[in-house]
Amino acid sequence: MEDDSGAAIHAPLAGPAPSPDDVRRMLAGVIDPELHLSIVELGMVDDVEVSPDGKVKVKVALTTAGCPLRGQIKSEVQSKVRGLPGVTEVDVEYGEMTQEQKATAMQRARWQAREDAEPTEVLATTRVLAVASGKGGVGKSSVTVNLAAALASRGLTVGVLDADIWGFSVPRMLGVEGRLGGAEGKIHPNTVEVPNTLDTNGPAGLLKVVSMGFLVDDEGTALMWRGLILTKAVEQFLNDVRWGEMDYLLIDLPPGTGDIQMGLARMLPQSELLVVTTPAVAAQRVAVRVADMARRSYLKVVGVVENMSEFVAPSGERFAVFGEGGGKALADEISAPLVAQIPLEPSLSEGSDTGRPIALSAPDSPAGVAFHELAAQLVDDLAPPIEMAGCTARILELADQAAAKT
Ligand code: ADP
Repeated sequence: MEDDSGAAIHAPLAGPAPSPDDVRRMLAGVIDPELHLSIVELGMVDDVEVSPDGKVKVKVALTTAGCPLRGQIKSEVQSKVRGLPGVTEVDVEYGEMTQEQKATAMQRARWQAREDAEPTEVLATTRVLAVASGKGGVGKSSVTVNLAAALASRGLTVGVLDADIWGFSVPRMLGVEGRLGGAEGKIHPNTVEVPNTLDTNGPAGLLKVVSMGFLVDDEGTALMWRGLILTKAVEQFLNDVRWGEMDYLLIDLPPGTGDIQMGLARMLPQSELLVVTTPAVAAQRVAVRVADMARRSYLKVVGVVENMSEFVAPSGERFAVFGEGGGKALADEISAPLVAQIPLEPSLSEGSDTGRPIALSAPDSPAGVAFHELAAQLVDDLAPPIEMAGCTARILELADQAAAKT
């Protein structure tokens, strides 16, 4: 405790000095502002010393030494510990967490986020991949449907939730039409069987498709819907659709970082994000914000997909129509791997209109091959991304690395 001149103020000694365990019990009430869990639970309290005259020294291990929230943690620690009888002074020292501590803390935070999430109809065994982009028109929906189709052609059951409610294109791209059926208060997804091309004797794959496009008559009607209603619609899709067993659920998110993304993070905290961008370096700025949002909600960014990369002419000649380097630059900036570069291919666009995604209609075309390679990488489990700046974000990645090793 200090007065204005900086001299330590000694509160009158009220009884004997507390034990270090008493202090730790008080510290259990200090909540890390970023991870929303107690600093004791997160393993951030490295050491507690209490001298006989009631002076307490607490060593707090921060996620990163320069964490901007350190001041807030310090004053919380001081005010909590000062409440203990017998405490005359509280000193807070900072240290930095070891990689192991960070890994444990982040696992704890993720676990908590999952514990807090209300159960949805999406089973815990389903791997959820949310496909995001900073802005529209970069090919997010095309990536979603082609990746879903490529995964299904491996004999997998893949859900596709078209949450891009302002521009739902999934039904058209997959050639799925008609209203959603239902029974016993649950909505049933529309399904499309996909031949197994990986193992022709193996079971066929299945796409389970849900889109706002199945609920409203035209995009004009959907455009009149706003914010809360839209978020609620996605919530309903997760709660009221009888998804059943699925290996994967791919979610085509609306572009940007709005309520729907935050709602998804809350409802399906196990989601991993695939961020789609174009080779134009300028597009990367907006995409960075998506990655930031993900990390703040503890979602893992599994990788960056660069779409509309160079055009490969039949002669094999390559043309970088939309520039070069955007995907790599974004991946570097957010320290996530660049997992695919999908070439620009006119037939991809045509496939979208005829309801036959290129991954199925022309799997040997350059774009088709790229989608199948992306599916294979995801199935064989991508290496977890490495750390990026920011307290939570840094430990997120370290936690992943540690978890991958165990
Ligand atoms: P978003 O979901 O990001 O708004 P879409 O997937 O709807 O983007 O794609 C926008 C347009 O670009 C569509 O007409 C689509 O067919 C086309 N497109 C997307 N990716 C490619 C590609 N790799 N090659 C050619 N056309 C593409």
